[in-house]
Amino acid sequence: MTFHNLYQSGLNFPKAPQILHLLFADVISFPMAHDTIDYFKHAQDIKKKLDEVSPTMCLAKWLQVSMHLTNGLTQSCYHPPTHKISLDDLKKSPKALHNTQEKKQQRKMMREGKRPPGCEYCWKIEDSPENHLSDRYVRSGEPWARAHFDEVVNNPYDYNVNPRYVEVNFNHACNFKCAYCSPHISSSWAQEIENHGPYPTLIPHNDISYFQQQELMPIIKKGDNPYVEAFWKWWPDLYKDIKVFRMTGGEPLIDKNTFKVLDWVIEHPRPDLELAITSNMCPPNKLMNQFINSIQHIMSEKKLKRFMLFPSVDTWGRQAEYLRTGLDFNMFWNNIHRYLTEVPDGLLTFIITMNNLSVPKLKKLMQGILELQHKYNKTHHRIFLDCPFLRYPGWLSLQTLPNEYYHYMNDVIQYMKDNKVQKGSYYGFRDFWIGKMERTRTWMIQEQPEEELNKNLTNFYLYFSEFDKRRKTNFLKTFPEMENFWNMCRKQSELFENQTERSK
Ligand code: SF4
Ligand code: SF4
Repeated sequence: MTFHNLYQSGLNFPKAPQILHLLFADVISFPMAHDTIDYFKHAQDIKKKLDEVSPTMCLAKWLQVSMHLTNGLTQSCYHPPTHKISLDDLKKSPKALHNTQEKKQQRKMMREGKRPPGCEYCWKIEDSPENHLSDRYVRSGEPWARAHFDEVVNNPYDYNVNPRYVEVNFNHACNFKCAYCSPHISSSWAQEIENHGPYPTLIPHNDISYFQQQELMPIIKKGDNPYVEAFWKWWPDLYKDIKVFRMTGGEPLIDKNTFKVLDWVIEHPRPDLELAITSNMCPPNKLMNQFINSIQHIMSEKKLKRFMLFPSVDTWGRQAEYLRTGLDFNMFWNNIHRYLTEVPDGLLTFIITMNNLSVPKLKKLMQGILELQHKYNKTHHRIFLDCPFLRYPGWLSLQTLPNEYYHYMNDVIQYMKDNKVQKGSYYGFRDFWIGKMERTRTWMIQEQPEEELNKNLTNFYLYFSEFDKRRKTNFLKTFPEMENFWNMCRKQSELFENQTERSK
């Protein structure tokens, strides 16, 4: 899950994120999944302490990191743009994976009350008339951050800190080619583009040379990635301090580094550590078995505080398979049951990337999730969901749909309301999720400027016509509910072609 200007979990637009999987962190779902912690109260409390340091101080700049080891980029938190890790600095210390010169300059600015430009996401919210609490306060108030306030403020701004919230993608190897993903995130996508070239949309889509220019393509020489090497050098020291560790990809369950981490946890228990893995839940069987066995062992022996699995799925059945090429929906659903049965202490948050193709069967997915909750949430909350909405590529945006499709969203929201979690029970939809779905609907029905909409409709037709050819799929057979939309896109594309012809 991935890339440029993609996702949005509320109504405040994030600054162009770089990596789809990492974006899922936008929801702070992992800690938010637990009722016991009042995040907003902690955000208010930490605000007073931060304000005493400076009006721009943020603990996330020190204590949170997303490390993209595939291409040597880093950011903290995940709102600011990524930047390159210096290989010279890395030779001196592996802590340079997080403590780059650029971040140190930003930390200095924060200590002096200046606003680092990469943090516009927060500055915009703080400058808005509604006076919302920005992520600066929310993140700084989370347990992994606020406990280390004194360490951060009592050290010089340029000390090499060990982060407490760490997200890492080791590898872009992935057996899927989701419609919204790209070659720098998924090796299967990269392979397709190498074989067939970019997609013939108005601006050629997923052109590898673009990602190369942006220095986003992964280092592919096996065993020769200095960033992964530095990570393992740092790991024993880093591991003793981290509180939340999340692995993303590519597909983490087909990467040996993921299992190296799990083996490490087995050997070095950390009962205060929260571990999370994002997965498409369709790795080869052998690896699924290995994963389940390791997590089962870890959890039954209480070697971790919590484990959260983040499976990604955007709708139901063959429509989900269409959207996420490589997905075998039955295998996916069986693996979800397997995990919930065989790892009884394991938690799970579905990541549903809301896009226009999610809409027709979204209610079916919600029904499936509710059934799972009935079956597995017997004594405590185990199954959660998060629905960030997609912004890029624009032709997959919910905003492209005309109003004849709005009733699907209304039905979903009504279904969630009719099945709200009740006090004392562990299944049902939470107010927080329903509120987010309602905000998504509000966003969905906002009209796009005409020119943008027409481009998106044209691109939808161009993209999926080529997609069907390359992947031997059939849009209309898979999405019969979307025939009108398809025809609308086709007409727009023809109109565009005629205009182009006339202007020649
Ligand atoms: S499963 Fe693979 S292709 Fe799909 S979004 Fe994740 S990395 Fe990309
Ligand atoms: S100020 Fe906001 S954008 Fe910047 S690091 Fe903190 S939380 Fe992230």
